[in-house]
Amino acid sequence: MIAILKKDAPEQAITHLRSWIEGKGLTTHLSRGENEIIVGLVGDTTKIDPFLLESMDIVERVQRVSEPFKKANRKFHPADSVIDCGHGVLIGGGHFQVIAGPCSVEGDNLIRIARRAKAAGATMLRGGAYKPRTSPYAYQGMGEAGLDLLREAADELDMPIVTEIMDPRDLPRFLDRGIEVLQIGARNAQNFPLLKEVGKTRTPVLLKRGMSGTVDELLMAAEYIMSEGNPNVILCERGIRTYETRTRNTFDLNAIPTLHYLSHLPVVADPSHATGYTRYVGPMALAATAAGADGLEIEVHDDPSRAWSDGAQALTPDMFDETMEKIRQIRAVVCPDEA
Ligand code: PEP
Ligand code: MN
Repeated sequence: MIAILKKDAPEQAITHLRSWIEGKGLTTHLSRGENEIIVGLVGDTTKIDPFLLESMDIVERVQRVSEPFKKANRKFHPADSVIDCGHGVLIGGGHFQVIAGPCSVEGDNLIRIARRAKAAGATMLRGGAYKPRTSPYAYQGMGEAGLDLLREAADELDMPIVTEIMDPRDLPRFLDRGIEVLQIGARNAQNFPLLKEVGKTRTPVLLKRGMSGTVDELLMAAEYIMSEGNPNVILCERGIRTYETRTRNTFDLNAIPTLHYLSHLPVVADPSHATGYTRYVGPMALAATAAGADGLEIEVHDDPSRAWSDGAQALTPDMFDETMEKIRQIRAVVCPDEA
């Protein structure tokens, strides 16, 4: 971190500032240019609030030199992380996976959808048993019964489950049933107690980007999980809220190569929530694949008009078949060695 001081900063104030910084266990380096005075801060800069520093009278500007995320940072871990999701399914570092299933677990149709998804090439089963709904009057999910249905379907098909956890108090229910991947949804991307709690496990976490979250905020959320000891984080771009109203969200494709550049963690894209409309899901699934996603999460429903949630963005099993075929073709071109 460096602090650029005003060029007329009084000597006494500079000395005072340096001893304040040094009092926090850091060292300082002063350099005087023609037009500015720069104080370099060396050591554990997490001890310094950059906004507080910038608010000081003699300080013109503060700049970070290194990113605040460390464990998620590619600089300290150059190789891609490969995460083991169970049932022989690896993701990241050239291992590409497709997570498919309904938005919500609804009942007996789960196994039918799951069979079709697997036959088409999906390798992980999704479905929400605890649903984060904007309205408290909307369907809230089947809860534990939904987790049981997921377990039954996934065991029959030998697939890992990806399902959302909203409340840290529910964690034992997920762990007791051997849920392979805990999803943290967009609305909980900054639910710090939840992030810390899943961080105390070793269970892989599919961490979605917050609705209005920046790439850096997503990486700091990953850092919360990893700093508690769980290295198994999968990042997920699911669209962000912008001024555009023609789609449910704006799919930030930039985030895929940006996250790969900044972090070693696998990156999954969710074209279902990113677009909100069935007709756009296929094209954006292909775009995300071409942009280098390590996986996709796609909502599939056998009767979207009767779906209990997100029917408007569900692919039917036939549409999913077609999309999977095109995804294979894109991968054969973009990464022929991995496809
Ligand atoms: C979901 O996956 O069903 C979901 C609610 O996603 P998001 O958190 O991205 O809105
Ligand atoms: Mn959904």
